[in-house]
Amino acid sequence: MTLSRRHFLASAGLAGGALLAGASVPALARAPLAHAPTLGALRRKVGSIEVTALLDGYIDIGSELVIGLAEADAERLAEASFQKPGPRRAPVNAYLINLGDRLVLVDAGTSDSMGPSLGRLPAAIEAAGVSPDQIDTLLITHMHPDHINGVLTPAGQALFPNAELIVTAADYAFWHDDANMNQAPDEAKPFFIGARRAAAAYADRLRQVDGEREAVGSIRTVPLPGHTPGHAGFIVESDGEALFVWGDVVHMASYQFARPDWSIAFDVDSKLAAETRKRTLDRVAADRMLIAGMHLPFPGIGHVARDGDAYRFVPDEWPYSL
Ligand SMILES: [Zn+2]
Repeated sequence: MTLSRRHFLASAGLAGGALLAGASVPALARAPLAHAPTLGALRRKVGSIEVTALLDGYIDIGSELVIGLAEADAERLAEASFQKPGPRRAPVNAYLINLGDRLVLVDAGTSDSMGPSLGRLPAAIEAAGVSPDQIDTLLITHMHPDHINGVLTPAGQALFPNAELIVTAADYAFWHDDANMNQAPDEAKPFFIGARRAAAAYADRLRQVDGEREAVGSIRTVPLPGHTPGHAGFIVESDGEALFVWGDVVHMASYQFARPDWSIAFDVDSKLAAETRKRTLDRVAADRMLIAGMHLPFPGIGHVARDGDAYRFVPDEWPYSL
């Protein structure tokens, strides 16, 4: 339905009314601030399949975690994005893809492993009208805690009793290598422990994938190495439309579209991650691909435009079903 101005005013009860005349209107009720978490679950179509963006919560990324950052540029980019300078707030998203014959969850949030601003994914799944036992497949972009720890309950049990867990072979090998764990700084050791606990809980239904090929149904894997050795995205196609869920190509939207050479300290190989980011931004801008990102402003779905050597995220206009 297209609303005309007259219809809008009439439906809002405003045509010729007091507000338009500028009269003061007394407040009729006072509502206390809710101070309760809102739930993130937004559903849309891609071709004939359904994709539901789900919000686990958010992390704040301080500038000390940004490799290559120049403070003056960071302040300018924050201001250009109408944001305060200082830490960048990054949501943690996941995407539920209903292929019709299969329900696939791409990434799983944090469970209780990363503090009170996160861990809301189970509530978001419930808000989407889905119960964990309906999910057939867990497709993991990489085995970092904000993507894989949520396959477990806080007690460490498998949250999804019927789901196959799919990870990339390169990530599985990296996080299970004792030499890598021993060399890692102390603050990174929990990453290894979390990845191993998650994989162990699904050991009897775990599958490893590699290369650019079909992972499950019509969803195919796209290697995006650097952030982790096996970091990958997934492209789902349906009826001539496509969505590229690109995982962690971008962590800080207000910085890295403009400065794709800036990386995050969690990268296993930040140089390779930056190369992958530039190549991916180039590809999706040239191909006008619809993308979804785990740390883009929720629901994190849109396009990438090219501006000279820089890029710009263009969130999709409201395509969500009510
Ligand atoms: Zn992440």
